[in-house]
Amino acid sequence: MKHHRIGAFALAAALGLAASGSTALAAGKASPDHYVLIHAGTLLAVPGRPVERQMTIVVRNDRIQGVDKGYTDPATLHGSADATVEVVDLRDRFVLPGLMDAHVHLAMEPTFGRHRTERGDRNPPTGAQLAVNALIHARRSLAAGFTTLRDLGSDDTSVFAVRNAINDGRIIGPRILVAGSALAVTGGHGDSLPIDATGDAQARLRDGTCDGPYECREAVRFQYKLGADIIKFTSTGGFASNTGLDPQFFPDEIEAIVSTAHLLGLKAAAHAYSPIAIRQAVRAGVDSIEHGFLVDDEGLGLMKKAGTYLVPTLSASYPPPIFRIPDPESVRIRNEHKAFERAYAAGVKIAFGTDAGTFTHGDNAKEFGLMVRFGMSPMDALRSATVATADLFGISADAGTLEPGKLADLIALAGNPLDDVGTLLDVDFVMKSGRIAKRDGRMIEPFSYPKPSATF
Ligand SMILES: [Zn+2]
Repeated sequence: MKHHRIGAFALAAALGLAASGSTALAAGKASPDHYVLIHAGTLLAVPGRPVERQMTIVVRNDRIQGVDKGYTDPATLHGSADATVEVVDLRDRFVLPGLMDAHVHLAMEPTFGRHRTERGDRNPPTGAQLAVNALIHARRSLAAGFTTLRDLGSDDTSVFAVRNAINDGRIIGPRILVAGSALAVTGGHGDSLPIDATGDAQARLRDGTCDGPYECREAVRFQYKLGADIIKFTSTGGFASNTGLDPQFFPDEIEAIVSTAHLLGLKAAAHAYSPIAIRQAVRAGVDSIEHGFLVDDEGLGLMKKAGTYLVPTLSASYPPPIFRIPDPESVRIRNEHKAFERAYAAGVKIAFGTDAGTFTHGDNAKEFGLMVRFGMSPMDALRSATVATADLFGISADAGTLEPGKLADLIALAGNPLDDVGTLLDVDFVMKSGRIAKRDGRMIEPFSYPKPSATF
């Protein structure tokens, strides 16, 4: 693929804007506008709507200014005199919105599972290891075309630090919505406290361990204080622990978690397998059911009525995770209950999510192959990872489609994912918030190290 980099292309002074441009600079105003014209051979601007051919996406700084028919000539742009323009040639590429994964664990990597037990760590990773993990995994996810992630649980605050460094522009990475520590009951799925620390109030808060509605409210508020964007709770055991698949929270605890999250303006996500736990969470107003492998028809009916999302995480069961339940068990449970197929047929809203961290980060797009294999159309699968995830995350005004006003999060690939979702495993161009992170299959500009502002 060829790119024509025009570089610092000064727009014609004939536009009569030179004076205002230099005034802005003299007054120390924001840096000049940077435009990127993306010439897209095939464009899926809004997954769910038809593709268009030979289009131009006009990116101004971090956002999309316009989506135009034909290949726009940079000389026809109207901007200030000191603006710069770059043209990106994707005329032989399929361009679509950046992908989103609603369920990852950036600090986790599969090998750690071999060293850990839920009820007392013998050899847990240090906070420093978790932070390095999260940094590397965030970058690997962006390279795979995932421009927005929801991190649904880490053992410490390292993902907050990575999110903040990305948001501050110190490193390039995906947009991350962080849950912090997932809330769990004493002895439940996600309680990683050593036995000796079980009664330590500070340790419980940091771990997200809570019993009873009052302590669960406090646990939500503590994650909020740390800067959580979302609250996650593990209402049942799961494939990754030896705590069974049945309910672990009482309804009053679930209600306390969900209502406190909503009071603080945060969404709530329930890790839930058993039908009873799913019904309890949906009745409490939870925003998404994670996994949901054992959902029954009553639960699907409640989800449809309430508009609750299912985040299927097929990758977490198929291929099986590396944790303790014997490998064929998760596949057997998934295939026996077919929650994903039944939810899709029932018209329940589905948001793409993988549980990356229980398998290798960067392989997130393999989930598309499972979704299609289990009966979803490629277009609906793409929609689940763009329009639907943006809706679940509450960021539809900013992301999920390539329309004017949205953040410029977009990817390009050589193949046509509507013919073969396997082509999504080979993303060779990534732009996030108007910044090019990957081109010609190679990541660029890992660190920018901006100078601290004058207040330091
Ligand atoms: Zn998970």
